[in-house]
Amino acid sequence: MAGVAAARALSRSGLSVAIVEGRDRVGGRVYSVRDFCGAPVEGGAEFVHTNDAEIWPEIRDAHLAVRACPLTRNSMFNLGGRTLWLPWILLHPAVWPSFAILRQIRRVGPDDMSARTFIERHGFRGRARVMAEMTLTAHLPGSIDEVGVRGLIEDRVLNLETGSYHRLASGYDTLIAHMSRGLDIRFGFTVETIRWAADGVHVSANDGRGLSARAAISTLPFGVLKAGRVQFTPELPESKRAAFTRIEAGPVSKVLLQFAEPFWPRWLSNLGCGTGPATLYWPVFYGAEDQPAALTAYCTGPRALRLSKLSEGEAVDVVLADLQRLFPKSNPRQALIRARRIDWGNDPLAHGGYTFLRPGGCGARTQLAAADTGALLWAGSATATSTIADTVQAAYTSGLRAADEAQRFLGALQN
Ligand SMILES: Cc1cc2nc3c(=O)[nH]c(=O)nc-3n(C[C@H](O)[C@H](O)[C@H](O)COP(=O)(O)OP(=O)(O)OC[C@H]3O[C@@H](n4cnc5c(N)ncnc54)[C@H](O)[C@@H]3O)c2cc1C
Repeated sequence: MAGVAAARALSRSGLSVAIVEGRDRVGGRVYSVRDFCGAPVEGGAEFVHTNDAEIWPEIRDAHLAVRACPLTRNSMFNLGGRTLWLPWILLHPAVWPSFAILRQIRRVGPDDMSARTFIERHGFRGRARVMAEMTLTAHLPGSIDEVGVRGLIEDRVLNLETGSYHRLASGYDTLIAHMSRGLDIRFGFTVETIRWAADGVHVSANDGRGLSARAAISTLPFGVLKAGRVQFTPELPESKRAAFTRIEAGPVSKVLLQFAEPFWPRWLSNLGCGTGPATLYWPVFYGAEDQPAALTAYCTGPRALRLSKLSEGEAVDVVLADLQRLFPKSNPRQALIRARRIDWGNDPLAHGGYTFLRPGGCGARTQLAAADTGALLWAGSATATSTIADTVQAAYTSGLRAADEAQRFLGALQN
């Protein structure tokens, strides 16, 4: 999304632009799986978060149909005992102490702390602690030791708890396909080195191909950068390398499951798990008529890491056993038609699902985005600061910002 948004803006302004892409498809972490159950199922990004997401005008422009998904309204939770609708969970006095968490978090002063320290300082215990851990880490691919509390505010992550959710009925990738129409995209071009200077950039691929330009925008996923998969010459400045230590790209995986028939309540939109191998489950076609009975198991951080160590068959087995625990009267194993795992942590062109800020990480996204490497500029969802961090809309806004910077840079070169 970041690359396509930037390239399209620059092409429209009359510049000659090429995108180099390691895969044989557009979309990156927007990946609509079309060979699973007859209708597109999202292997990567799934939801348009909030009613004011910056990508709504693009969705309207492409005339794409959307389905609303009231994640918070029709949610169930399992905090270790029975699986219950959210209102029943909230009636339980043991979880009441956790209600104040969103308020308490906004009061954290300039001294940042990990989610664990925050939980321990506020004395959350039992079910309240499970709720607190879920609130602070459910969307993030990190453990309570890794996630910084102030970063949750800076990244606007808590907006995910209250905002609206929508799915693109035709698959999220149709948006990217629409936006990338007519662009010059060189597929299978896996960048290995980037040589940057004040007046140009040269990128080299692993198959010997190369490309020079007066300017370039890196939209490499943060995980790829941090893993050192691309070599920069000269080395990146100290502030960028500092950002690498303050931001984390954590593992995220999805297990897609199709069943002969649903065994979950008809109106279930989302099931949050305080314990067990998956963080969340959701029916894929919520709000759509006559669609397959498909569930996504969504696993983040330590849970994704544990699942990653298993074969696909073993991971599916673990998830089926978990569903049996969550819905004891059902027989998920018998009802299963097919399953597939998508593991972003093990994907060499992603090296993680998305990012979060470590304790003390506030401001690191600005360092990452800074135009401090001559003709090489920076975009990608991890670099955005003006919207919910590391979402599709973050990638989009970062692409537009970097395109603007590139235009100014090239304009200055000419004068
Ligand atoms: C499982 C999952 C669920 C998510 N759910 C949501 C959601 O519901 N809503 C939401 O808004 N966001 C969600 N996200 C986050 C969202 O997908 C990303 O933030 C966004 O798509 C990133 O866009 P990008 O353009 O910055 O990076 P990418 O989409 O990763 O694009 C980077 C591109 O660079 C390519 N590349 C990598 N290395 C190289 C190389 N060496 N040479 C050449 N090309 C290379 C990749 O193949 C890729 O195409 C989710 C992410 C995951 C993994």
